[in-house]
Amino acid sequence: MGKIFIGLGSNLGDRGKNLIAAINLLSQSMKIEAVSSIYETEPWGEPNQQNFYNAVVNANCGISPFELLKNLKDMEKKLGRKKDKRKGTRIIDLDILLFGKEIIATDKLTIPHKQLLLRDFFLEPILEINSDLLNPTDNIPLSEYLERMPVQLRTIVSKIESKDWEQAIDKVLSKK
Ligand code: AMP
Repeated sequence: MGKIFIGLGSNLGDRGKNLIAAINLLSQSMKIEAVSSIYETEPWGEPNQQNFYNAVVNANCGISPFELLKNLKDMEKKLGRKKDKRKGTRIIDLDILLFGKEIIATDKLTIPHKQLLLRDFFLEPILEINSDLLNPTDNIPLSEYLERMPVQLRTIVSKIESKDWEQAIDKVLSKK
């Protein structure tokens, strides 16, 4: 298993294609070790927008968390992300969820991700890849956080069955 977990989200345009383009681009600069299913989730905050498609990628790469953040921001631009027209809508969002056991708290970067323990669309796909993972800040299993998550915070509507996604995963894993 890789030490990095990256969260992917899209709720604009062809969401499945956007996620596929994202894992292809990620695979050019890192070794992808595992990819979760796609989860359809209800958007936070702003109503009247498309549901999100979310997934998580597990990877290894030899760069620092800050370099990785810069690379992810560049990739978001490459994948067509403009300054968000409407709050909350986005072609692609790439977030660093975990970076091994690193704990970082700066204005620019927080690891583990600030919302890691509050979002089922981060925890569920991470646990699909590795069900034994611990939260690095308190060593409590992430599965306990998901079990304890109140129903009002839950956003996952369904798991998406997609042959295109399975094929895209096979392709990026074959580069390992
Ligand atoms: P977003 O709106 O999700 O694209 O994130 C906006 C900003 O959050 C980024 O420009 C980062 O500087 C900051 N940020 C802080 N922690 C993280 C993290 N773990 N992963 C990604 N962005 C982060």
